[in-house]
Amino acid sequence: MKEVYLDYSATTPVKKEVFEEMAPYFTEHFGNPSSLYKIASESKEALNLARKRLADLINASPEEIFFTGSGTEADNWAVFGTLDAMKKKGNHMITSSIEHHAIMHTAQYLMKRGIDATFLSVDKEGIISPAELEKSINDKTVLVSLMMVNNEVGSIEPIKELALVAKKHGVLFHTDAVQALGNVPIDVKELGVDMMSLSSHKIYGPKGVGALYIRKGVRISNFVHGGAQENKKRAGTENLAGIVGFGKAAELANKNLTDHINRLTELRNYFIDRVKGSIKDVNINGSMDHRHPGNANITFNYIEGEAILLLLNEKGIYVSTGSACSSASLSPSHVLAAMGVPVEMIHGTIRFTMGDFTTKEDLDYTVEALKEIITKLREVSSVSEEKGW
Ligand SMILES: *Cc1c(COP(=O)(O)O)cnc(C)c1O
Repeated sequence: MKEVYLDYSATTPVKKEVFEEMAPYFTEHFGNPSSLYKIASESKEALNLARKRLADLINASPEEIFFTGSGTEADNWAVFGTLDAMKKKGNHMITSSIEHHAIMHTAQYLMKRGIDATFLSVDKEGIISPAELEKSINDKTVLVSLMMVNNEVGSIEPIKELALVAKKHGVLFHTDAVQALGNVPIDVKELGVDMMSLSSHKIYGPKGVGALYIRKGVRISNFVHGGAQENKKRAGTENLAGIVGFGKAAELANKNLTDHINRLTELRNYFIDRVKGSIKDVNINGSMDHRHPGNANITFNYIEGEAILLLLNEKGIYVSTGSACSSASLSPSHVLAAMGVPVEMIHGTIRFTMGDFTTKEDLDYTVEALKEIITKLREVSSVSEEKGW
């Protein structure tokens, strides 16, 4: 059976070049980078090359890159670390109502422990307003954390303008750029951000590796305590092969960025046009002007996304629903809810995300499958439609 993977925002396959570069670091080059002999210094050099490659992708200095165990850990570190380091100044953080759970649940956890958090709203396209941010800053605000690209609807946030507002008020600015990395150009200096979370497995690198960019001079407490790794800021023996893979993936992303963006934008627009042209009553969620190049988030009115997902799965097509980003949960997406999408429409929403191995044939196959599936499900649900859905 044909298989079509359209869930690149959930994870990506490791590219062959990446895997080949990693392989020797499991076997021949296994030295602990913290040791003091030859095979250890080779490991140390490999870490530094990866650090340089990732730094180059976002225009940072290598000393500003700290590897972590995931994008989630980088997000947790940015929030816990700055609130701890700045606790004499204040206990207020500002984030948004469309963040990834790695930020959202961290903020909610901290609210039970004396931290005050504000969740900024978004407009109907999922865009955060710099003016609303400015109004929410008070003299206890020590951190603003706003994502660069949303993982569900793909909206690209005005990070430069938002970071400028924070800077004007002397507040640290963190951005979760996990979905942005390798999909939009990133220049930390141009953006003016203080911290940025990154993850390897969303850019064709291995899972279980992330990084936090920390601008030189930013005060942040450690989150993982122990040894002196990562310039004494993140303890734990490094995931050497994983970091080597992340570095290689970053190098490839940097080299191919423009082609990658152009190719995905064309595929994505082709897909959206074909869906709109062949299926009635569909809505595209999110901004078309400020959007992740590989994201199509589509509501199929009057039916359940879960049912669509399962029928697509039977045809070997893999997607996500609008019922949170992990399909294990049936609660409606907080992102679509924040954008004002009615709950019954959220339940009919599917996220299709494309990547480097997606082809036009994959998308044609998917459109044909959707036509059949949507027709079938709408016949079944025509009763609910009559009820006024
Ligand atoms: C995937 C993702 C994360 C989490 O990264 P992991 O490396 O999977 O922990 C955080 N934020 C966003 C926006 C993501 O898409």
